[in-house]
Amino acid sequence: MSDNVVKLKPKDYKSDLKSVWCPGCGDFGVLGALTRALAQLELPPEKIAVISGIGCSSRLPGYVDTYGFNTIHGRSLPIATGLKATRPDLTVVCIAGDGDCYSIGAGHLPHAVRRNVDITLVVLDNFVYGLTKGQNSPTTPFGDTINKASPQQSDRPVNPLASVMAYGAPYVAQGFSAEMKDLAGLIAEGIRYPGFSIVNSLSPCVTFRGNDEFDRVRERTYHLDEDYDPADRAAALKHAEQSEGVPIGLLYKEDPPPACLPPRGSEPALGRPEPEWAQLLDQFRA
Ligand code: SF4
Ligand code: MG
Repeated sequence: MSDNVVKLKPKDYKSDLKSVWCPGCGDFGVLGALTRALAQLELPPEKIAVISGIGCSSRLPGYVDTYGFNTIHGRSLPIATGLKATRPDLTVVCIAGDGDCYSIGAGHLPHAVRRNVDITLVVLDNFVYGLTKGQNSPTTPFGDTINKASPQQSDRPVNPLASVMAYGAPYVAQGFSAEMKDLAGLIAEGIRYPGFSIVNSLSPCVTFRGNDEFDRVRERTYHLDEDYDPADRAAALKHAEQSEGVPIGLLYKEDPPPACLPPRGSEPALGRPEPEWAQLLDQFRA
């Protein structure tokens, strides 16, 4: 950033729209982490697009002062892919919930990974369908009886980290919304990484899983050691698949990064020329 450009603070990336998230929702921490990451990277807001699907978490594009698109359920990845393919100059952040990403739109995830689309997917994983009032989601733990609108969870849950590792994701991290600073670091590093990056963000739903959900999530997690090597794929798989809690930190970073879509530094490839705006407006006025 040149000397005459004012450095933006995290709050400068927030919009004026009043949040409708419940007080105490974990999503506030993820929003704070994202705006912190954008400020750390000194990204101009007009060069960022935040794309979401449907769900409580997918309201997030409205709360940031960047370009944004609240799309349809489970479809944020293909829309983000199309945007990044035509506007490689934009930083594209894809926002999804656990139901949105690992169930409704689960078919899109392996393909975004194998194409190695240069976007950052931030999943706000709260183990419940919050917007539709508390049904079990694909990440609700086995045997869980907490979700208000569902019987005991009798299905085995999706394992997000193991799934994306198996698909071949080159950057895989998991954070916790209560640890906003660390989560911001994981998101910033994911945006910096040239290729597909996913940050699964544990983001408690206090309304449908209770006020003690932050404590429960904390009990289920452990932090990767400081000397953990994220380039070690075998170690990453072991952490992703073991059943004694879930890891927090940068789990895997392929180094050197594989070729991504589009390559870094690509020019915008808009297929159609700019329309004659004046003529177009006249047509509508006629
Ligand atoms: Fe957050 Fe749950 Fe409220 Fe949705 S229902 S805003 S996930 S606390
Ligand atoms: Mg959810």
